[in-house]
Amino acid sequence: MLTPSATVVRDVSAPVPFEDSAPRTSKPRVVAAGMPAIISTAKHGIRKMGAIRSISNLSKVNKFDGFDCPGCAWPDPDGHRTFAEFCENGAKAVADEATKRKAGPDFWKKWSVSELSRKSDFWLNEQGRITHPLVLNQNSEHYEEISWDDAFEMIADNLAVLSDPDQAIFYTSGRTSNEAAFLWQLLARTLGTNNLPDCSNMCHESSGHALTQSIGIGKGTVTLDDFIHSDLILIVGQNPGTNHPRMLTALRDAKKNGSSVVSINPLEEAGMGRFKHPQNPLEVLGSGTKIADEHVNLRINGDMALFRGFAKTIISQDACDIEFIEDHTDGFDDYSELVQNTEWGDVESLSGVAREVIERIGNKIAQSKSMIVCWAMGLTQHKNAVQTIQEIANVSLLGGHIGRSGAGLCPVRGHSNVQGDRTVGINHHPSATFLDALDDRFGIEAPRIPGCDAVEAVRRMSSGQSNVFMSMGGNFLSAMSDTRATASALQNCELTVQISTKPNRSHLITGKSALILPCLGRTERDSTGIGDQFVTVENSMGVVHMSVGNARPASDMLMSEPAIVASIGSKLNQSGIHMDIPWLELVNDYDNIRREIESVIPGFDSYNERSRNRGGFYLPNSPRDSRKFDTPTGKANFISNPMSSITADAGKFVMMSIRSHDQYNTTIYGLDDRYRGVKGGRRVVFVNELDMEENGWQELQTVNVSSHYDGKVITSERWYLVPYNIPPGNVATYFPESNELIPLESVADMSNTPTSKSVLVSISTAN
Ligand code: SF4
Repeated sequence: MLTPSATVVRDVSAPVPFEDSAPRTSKPRVVAAGMPAIISTAKHGIRKMGAIRSISNLSKVNKFDGFDCPGCAWPDPDGHRTFAEFCENGAKAVADEATKRKAGPDFWKKWSVSELSRKSDFWLNEQGRITHPLVLNQNSEHYEEISWDDAFEMIADNLAVLSDPDQAIFYTSGRTSNEAAFLWQLLARTLGTNNLPDCSNMCHESSGHALTQSIGIGKGTVTLDDFIHSDLILIVGQNPGTNHPRMLTALRDAKKNGSSVVSINPLEEAGMGRFKHPQNPLEVLGSGTKIADEHVNLRINGDMALFRGFAKTIISQDACDIEFIEDHTDGFDDYSELVQNTEWGDVESLSGVAREVIERIGNKIAQSKSMIVCWAMGLTQHKNAVQTIQEIANVSLLGGHIGRSGAGLCPVRGHSNVQGDRTVGINHHPSATFLDALDDRFGIEAPRIPGCDAVEAVRRMSSGQSNVFMSMGGNFLSAMSDTRATASALQNCELTVQISTKPNRSHLITGKSALILPCLGRTERDSTGIGDQFVTVENSMGVVHMSVGNARPASDMLMSEPAIVASIGSKLNQSGIHMDIPWLELVNDYDNIRREIESVIPGFDSYNERSRNRGGFYLPNSPRDSRKFDTPTGKANFISNPMSSITADAGKFVMMSIRSHDQYNTTIYGLDDRYRGVKGGRRVVFVNELDMEENGWQELQTVNVSSHYDGKVITSERWYLVPYNIPPGNVATYFPESNELIPLESVADMSNTPTSKSVLVSISTAN
């Protein structure tokens, strides 16, 4: 290990700093998109990119020959693309990446990391694109420019002297392309570690675990086209209006085709109210389309009980698809018995929903010929998340709603390529089949001991078991739970490396030494010795398609993600870690990388040819394609879990963390939440009005919030109370601000995902 001179203790602030003033509040909206979305898109575009760039970039996003939106993973239409194939938040994501602002060497000379750590996430993000590789030396408070070669040497030197490869951690954010992700996992495994945590550990890991056990694949089973053929769509624990806005178009079209939509969420979101498609003048000027026919504002974490109630209704009416059940499933009898032995009283109390409402929707499900169930973080970030998603799969199996047109399960991914990264090997517990294929192809001995996920990564860094943290994109500190624990873990490292586009808090809370490696964005041209390159991504429906940037890079000093990984691999070769991998040849032409992926991972036949097809290609999905289930039973499994839900003791609340309409994951585009009527601030606690009265609280009163877990109490100060239509005993706050309240130990069973959607908190008046 490099001999450290006296280490400067950097006085950095990990949690997001307080806001000086209370936000302003107004009546929440019940209409999504429309003229306000057009205005907001124009504002963000012109403010960050200017008019010309806005037109050139936005005319290319999500087009067959354009780049994939760096926002969520909602699919593009297979056959056609509209002239503006993006939503308001997609436009914000593009503007944010293609901003004219630059955080060049002078910026980092001016500001110390301690000073920057006291800036808000919004301010940090506003500083623009990082233009040069930067190093934060042990005895320094300021990042300085470093050459790429010296940066790669520094990384190789730190990796080469590790006594155990598991001292290194390779984190991946979901924006990483298939090509970069495949090389990243290859680098880690050739080095000898499976320490490959990724952002899905914090989001849909629970879906992957649940569905793999239920139907033999950790992905959804629907296509975009299924929406138009469904007769019933359930939106559970998801806020499409903000987090997957183009989904509203699919829901509008399904409604126009006779489908019914039910929103199931503690919060009644604008996107489930009325939708005005911004490209349809009649809708913009008219009243738009009513999306949800019914809204069920169950209590936080009441979903499992609710779906158990639906199953009771279906089974009591003998409305099961017995033929499908007999031919394609296992475990029905046990499940049916469990359901019938479940008391309605428990269903009502744990769900927070009245029996007659449950039976009314249960009837709709029982009569449905083609039902789709969609969900997002509102389901996956709870202790019983895996069991809840299995209960949803059970209800879908009762009606045979798998592998039928217009029917299926639809976990909607929040990051544009988080599903693709997992598909090409970003997985801390990979299959033996995959590792065997890697060994055969590259002549390596890939490690067989599972690595660490995001939560375990924090533990390993805290204990010193791991001390080199490499992050491909993302903002690990802000995305992770228990901000203080994550901060001290990162600070316990010898070296942290961030491959990034813009400044964020993970650049400020670092190891003793730190590097920032500025990479190309999706919008930017990526040229190598043989010409322009394209990358590929996989959306929530399992469609792999190309993304090609065409804008001039923000700086001539930027490197592509694949080139950065290959340069580290090549440098390691020189540092004595012999890797018989032609790194630089692979990234000279990305077709070479795709050939390697094709040779190692099933379903990528003729990868280079098919990724050049208009719209790309669908990966195989046996439950969807042929009702085949790759489970130990060879069938889809009814899984009988005891019903559960989090309950708060007297004087405590169940808190869930949510996104505002002006953010994408941990990236803060603005301080407003137009749909929920909040302006100019983010440290708000949404509280039920009766709870406000009962506690004698005033609107915008300043309070402290404390979380309680197994005797551990974490307090976060100076939040503002906002009365809101949320079930009694439940409160909501924005992340990443409230991530400091989520204890590291509070995780979901089996998936180990932080329980960001259900934490017990108490609220006290601030001094
Ligand atoms: S719906 Fe998602 S992928 Fe589509 S434009 Fe919006 S943010 Fe981007």
